[in-house]
Amino acid sequence: MLARAIAAGGSTIRDYRTPDGVEGGFQNAFSVYGKAGEPCPACGGTLVSVKVAGRTSTFCPRCQK
Ligand SMILES: [Zn+2]
Repeated sequence: MLARAIAAGGSTIRDYRTPDGVEGGFQNAFSVYGKAGEPCPACGGTLVSVKVAGRTSTFCPRCQK
């Protein structure tokens, strides 16, 4: 059962823990990374991408605090 869960979610979990210095609300941005212009899975708002410290972050302007 556990092995099954790992097989199913392993890569997702790894994506979640990228060594990006992500903190707090920016965790949210990670689930929508690379999806700028698409609707937010949480609130339906349009996702936007911004460049932060040389890298692009995608986030929802409504959910983002
Ligand atoms: Zn949202």
